[in-house]
Amino acid sequence: MPYILALDEGTTSARAALYDREARRIAIESAPIPCRYPQSGWVEQDAEDIWVSQVESARRVLETASVSPSALVALGITNQRETTIVWDRTTGRPVAPAIVWQCRRTAAECDEIQHSGRAATISAKTGLVIDAYFSATKLQWILRAVPDAYAKARDGEILFGTVDTWLIWRLTNGAVHATDTSNASRTMLMNLESGDWDRELLDYFGVPHAMLPRIVPSSGVVGVAAAEHFGAEVPIGGIAGDQQAALFGQACFRPGLCKNTYGTGCFALMHTGARRPVSGNQLVATRAAGSGDSPVYAIEGSIFIAGAAVQWLRDKLGLIRTASESETVAASVPDTDGVYLVPAFVGLGAPHWDASARGIVCGITQATSAQHIVRAALESIAYQTRELVEAMEADSGESLSELRVDGGAAANNFLMQFQADILGRRLVRPVDTETTALGASFLAGLAAGFWKDCGELEQFWQPQRTFEPRMQVERREELYDGWKTAVRRCRLADHSQG
Ligand code: ADP
Repeated sequence: MPYILALDEGTTSARAALYDREARRIAIESAPIPCRYPQSGWVEQDAEDIWVSQVESARRVLETASVSPSALVALGITNQRETTIVWDRTTGRPVAPAIVWQCRRTAAECDEIQHSGRAATISAKTGLVIDAYFSATKLQWILRAVPDAYAKARDGEILFGTVDTWLIWRLTNGAVHATDTSNASRTMLMNLESGDWDRELLDYFGVPHAMLPRIVPSSGVVGVAAAEHFGAEVPIGGIAGDQQAALFGQACFRPGLCKNTYGTGCFALMHTGARRPVSGNQLVATRAAGSGDSPVYAIEGSIFIAGAAVQWLRDKLGLIRTASESETVAASVPDTDGVYLVPAFVGLGAPHWDASARGIVCGITQATSAQHIVRAALESIAYQTRELVEAMEADSGESLSELRVDGGAAANNFLMQFQADILGRRLVRPVDTETTALGASFLAGLAAGFWKDCGELEQFWQPQRTFEPRMQVERREELYDGWKTAVRRCRLADHSQG
C-alpha cells in the first residue's frame, strides 16, 4: 500500500503522520522540542534538536504503523514559520541558536523601522506589519552577533533558512537549499507580488543574496530525502508554513473560504485567490499554499492569547482542573452577567497591534462567580475571532459563508456554538482536525500524482459537526458592543500608566 508522509514541525513538538490513498491518517507520532528562554522575551531552540526530533518522529511512525519506507510515495513538510536558522554550508552545523518566531529580541529594531519612515514601503512590498515576529530582523541580529557572519554570508559559506529549508537541507544531505513561497512570504525579505527576494529589502536589512534559499512553489518535487534517513529515498513534494498548510488541509482552495485554528493563540486565514490582497485593517497579506505554479494569496489575522487564557484559568487561577472542563463550567451559567475578560496578556495582536495593552476583567459585581469568569474567558476567544473576521471581510470584499475550525480548543462545543452565535455564521469542524499535517500531505500527494487535483482532495474533507448561529441579532450586537467597550478600557487602562 502506498502512503504519504507528512512532517509537521511545530514549536513544541515535531510530528509525523502517514496518510493512505483516501487521505485517512493511519498513524501519527510526535517528539518534543525543547525551548530556551535566555532572557525576558527571548525564545530560542537548537536547530539540531529540531532535526533530531523530526527524524525520530518519522522513523517511529513508520515503525508503529509497520509501513515500509519504500511504500512512501512522497513526503510533505509543514513547519513553525518565521523561525530563523543560519548554518555553515560545509559542516552543516548551526552558527547560532534558532531564533523562534515568538522571540521579541528585535522589538527595539522594529520600533526604529516604524519611526524611520521606511515602514510603509516594507509593508507595501511584503504585505506584513513591522514586527519582531518576522524573520528579517532576526536574521539581521544573527549577522551582527556572530563574528565574521556578514562576510561568510556574502561568500555563501553560511546559509539562511526557515525550518522547512533547514529540514530539506538535512534530508537531502546538503543537496537542496530551498523554501516555498508561503514560508518565504513570512521572512519580510520576499516581494509578495513577484515571489522573489527583494533586492531593496535585502540591502535595507543587510542580508547577502548568496545565503538565501531558492524559492519554489508549495507543491512540486524539490529534491529527494536520502535513503539513510528513513530507509529508502523519498521525494520531497510539498512545503508550506503551518497556517497555510492548515488552510490547504481544510480544503479552503477558493476565494472567500476561511479557517480559524484555536490553539494557544488563534490564526485565521482567508483564501483571496490570485489577487494580491492589501490590508486596510491591520491584517497581514501572505502567500497561500497552492497546487500549481501561479500565485495564490491569503489574508491572515492572529490573536496571541486564545487557548492560553484557558490555561491561565487552570494554572494560575485554579478555576478549572482541565482545559476541557471549561466547557461544562461555562455552560453552567446562562451568560457572564456582564463580565468581560480581555486576555491582552502580551498586548493585543490583529487587528489592534497594541503591544502595551494588558489584560483586564471588567463588569464585576458581588454576584460574579468563578463560572462567569470562565465563561468570559471562552467568550473572549470568540469575540477576538469576530474582530479578525470583520477585518478580513472588509479587506477582501468577500463575505464569509462559513468558518472551518481546528486546533485544540475547537473541541470545546460551548465555544464553537458561542462563536457561531457571535459571528452569525455557520462553523464547520472537520473529522480530521490535524489539518496542518493533512495540508502538507495534500501538497506532496498532488506533486507525486498520488492525487489528481483539488477537486479530488475536496472529497476527503469531511465535516464532523456544524454549529449554526442561534442567537438573536440584537443580543449578538449588544454583547459585541460590550466587548468593544472592554477592549477600549483595556487599552485605556494601560495608557493611564504612562
Ligand atoms: P498549540 O498547537 O498552539 O500548542 P493546540 O491546538 O494543541 O495548541 O491547543 C492547545 C490549546 O487549546 C491550549 O491553550 C489549551 O488550553 C486549549 N484547549 C485544549 N482543549 C480545550 C478545550 N476543550 N476547551 C478550551 N480550550 C482548550
